Amino acid sequence: MTICQECENLLRAFECLEIRYRVARSAVLYRISTEFAAKQQVDMERARYDMEEHMLICPFAAAVAAPCR
Ligand SMILES: [Zn+2]
Repeated sequence: MTICQECENLLRAFECLEIRYRVARSAVLYRISTEFAAKQQVDMERARYDMEEHMLICPFAAAVAAPCR
């Protein structure tokens, strides 16, 4: 994959937080703090934003997003 190290780091961070959020959200079903799940969601959204912001300026991400140009 022609993806830069920064893309990879940001993607990995986002995926990790997304998994944590999903776990937290399913835990809510078992009466564990919704506040905790909300916090996990904020962390996830922030990681997503960081990733998207980097990909806007990253030439490698542009190449991956639009390979048929
Ligand atoms: Zn990048």
